[in-house]
Amino acid sequence: MSTNAPIKSSKARDPSTVELGYRSPTEYGALSSDGATVYAVRFIAGAWTCTCTGYAARQTCCHTLAAALPRCSFCDRTADVHLYRNPYEAAPIVLCGACVGEAAR
Ligand SMILES: [Zn+2]
Ligand SMILES: [Zn+2]
Repeated sequence: MSTNAPIKSSKARDPSTVELGYRSPTEYGALSSDGATVYAVRFIAGAWTCTCTGYAARQTCCHTLAAALPRCSFCDRTADVHLYRNPYEAAPIVLCGACVGEAAR
């Protein structure tokens, strides 16, 4: 039995670890893994685009994936988010577990 089974390795960052700064409903600033560069992530013609080299090469990157993640409409968290339907509002909103707790109070 081989002990050298290939380990799934990927250089792509987990999108949920990307720090996004809100600029507008169709634009985020995404902090690069170098901690200094900020890429512009924009929603254009139905798809997220990014100014990073990864996106230029592959038309996808962790920043566009991060921008497409469901996101708490209160605190912008992407972890533990759920669709939450207010009894008095027609459209469901996206809230994280913590904010659902706040809203239900
Ligand atoms: Zn990118
Ligand atoms: Zn939240």
